[in-house]
Amino acid sequence: MHSSRHDLLTGSLLGLSLALAAPAPAAAQPAPAQSTVLRAARLIDGTGAKPVEPGMVLIEGERIVEVGAKVRVPAGARVIDLGDATLLPGLIDLHTHLTGDERVHWEDGLVKSTPPRDALWGARNARVTLLAGFTSVRDMGPNWPYVDVELRRAIDEGAVPGPRMMVAGSYVSSTGGAGDARQFSPYVEVPLGQTLADGPDEVTKAVRTNLKQGADFIKVLATGAILSKGIAPGAQQYSDAELRAAVVEAGRWGKWVASHAHGAEGIKASIRAGVRTVDHGSYLDDEAIALIKASKRQVFYVPTLYTYASIDRPGPDNPFPESERERARKVRDTAYAGFKRALAAGIPIGFATDAAVIPHGQNAEEFSVRAGLGEKPMATIVAATSLNAEIMGWQDRVGSLAAGKLADVVAVPGDPLLDIAVLQRVGFVMKGGEVVRDELGGR
Ligand SMILES: [Zn+2]
Repeated sequence: MHSSRHDLLTGSLLGLSLALAAPAPAAAQPAPAQSTVLRAARLIDGTGAKPVEPGMVLIEGERIVEVGAKVRVPAGARVIDLGDATLLPGLIDLHTHLTGDERVHWEDGLVKSTPPRDALWGARNARVTLLAGFTSVRDMGPNWPYVDVELRRAIDEGAVPGPRMMVAGSYVSSTGGAGDARQFSPYVEVPLGQTLADGPDEVTKAVRTNLKQGADFIKVLATGAILSKGIAPGAQQYSDAELRAAVVEAGRWGKWVASHAHGAEGIKASIRAGVRTVDHGSYLDDEAIALIKASKRQVFYVPTLYTYASIDRPGPDNPFPESERERARKVRDTAYAGFKRALAAGIPIGFATDAAVIPHGQNAEEFSVRAGLGEKPMATIVAATSLNAEIMGWQDRVGSLAAGKLADVVAVPGDPLLDIAVLQRVGFVMKGGEVVRDELGGR
């Protein structure tokens, strides 16, 4: 026995939209938790443990109850047999911009679009991301402040389908820095898209403002960016004191700071200031790796390696000017070398894509890029699941297939340890016990 809502959520996109149009079931008497058993040829639990064959997961309501080669099958349970597939924890992306339209340069977006447009496309991008198997994301900031906060709320309230979101609210950037979109004549009025803050006091105020408005963490731009007319990606833009101010104030609220950092000095200043993550980390050097190691899993390196090729992708939908494509080509080899150095040093490496810079839903391309640079498939899978959950502080709820965790489960055809590219063909997605995609098992 299961509700019609479940049936509608299973399968096609048409079914999905019908389910969302239907009125929510009355909550008069709580129905007994639906039991579901998932079965597939193998299971990778996300911790790095050896795969289990076959793999089974028992789910009750929104939580996992049992995981193994053979689990209890309660009477009346719905059994979904996924065949020659691999069960995995829902994937996690630590760097998305779900409210960003991949076809529009973010600086253009601020003068040619509106917050409602980003909210609507954000809902579309959230759905596409979820259907690609990414059941949690850390979203690194919208063009229009706090559109991400509302998207997170809409998803959590069940209004639109999407991943669990942790959101930045609004970038914190210095004047003239990577987040300063006002790269026009000073006589042109451009809306203040980002939180511009200069000096420790303004940074402190920006942190307070974002957290007050519902941000879950703080994103600072410590260096220039590839996709900005501001200063070069290698240049540090926030001073050590400004970075420290962000970390101290966020810490008072029990929150972390994520630092956009390409250049080596900006990376190291961010680590010393005590940020949680160094994102992109293009010019990561040995000294930075040593600092990360010394932090004992307090600071993490979160590269976005598919971006460099994606910024230079052919096709009419690529919004990036030649000057920025050229920057991406220039930085790419350095960033690849930094990743290989981090691999050799054995530091944990978070999994992220910068989606919006890459087309939404193509997040799993990052797996193949990392494999091409020498990372073992199991290590990348651990990065995108249990390690990412640890980095977000969500290890108590997601990131592995284990009793007590939220039932965020995906399946891919075949074996990703033999061919990592199958992660680009996620055919089954469950979020919190609800099947949102199933092209593998039927029901
Ligand atoms: Zn980004």
